[in-house]
Amino acid sequence: MSHEISVSNNEDYPLCRACGGECCRTRPGIESPERFLAEANPAEALALLLASGLWVLDRHYGIPYSPERGEQGDPDRIILYPRPATGAEKAAGSIFAIPGAGECVLLGNDGCTLPFAERPRACQTLEPAAGFACTSTWTRFDAAREWVSHQDMVNEALALLGLPPDHPAF
Ligand code: SF4
Ligand code: SF4
Repeated sequence: MSHEISVSNNEDYPLCRACGGECCRTRPGIESPERFLAEANPAEALALLLASGLWVLDRHYGIPYSPERGEQGDPDRIILYPRPATGAEKAAGSIFAIPGAGECVLLGNDGCTLPFAERPRACQTLEPAAGFACTSTWTRFDAAREWVSHQDMVNEALALLGLPPDHPAF
């Protein structure tokens, strides 16, 4: 599945090779809702990715709290958002994240196996820099802020996979 590219290619293969791939080997990047919203049926597109065994739903605990934005916050809410699976998650056959760091299933011997335009937004926005000084303009907090208003899409995808919206993992 391709999606509209909104981040210019910032790959720095020599630098990332020298680093060893710390990011991809520990925490696969989160995808944004826009990838799915660009599809005719966003929930079906999400369900297809999850059914592939290569993607999972990760959990963000609590919702954004910012009185200036009119947000009240809710520490008991969990926001689900998709990202590529780790090797352990794929082996477990789970569509929900398993706690702990792990290598992204899309990481190959020569880096990411996806073209830049098809990578999750968190991967695209991670700007490589020497000395582990990499920065990102789109963090998991931004992901939570975007996904909180699209949990209906997640629930619909779960329903397509035969899972209830109030799955125990919530
Ligand atoms: S983006 Fe940063 S952490 Fe990831 S492989 Fe490149 S240098 Fe290492
Ligand atoms: S999708 Fe590609 S860039 Fe993103 S974590 Fe996986 S291997 Fe790394």
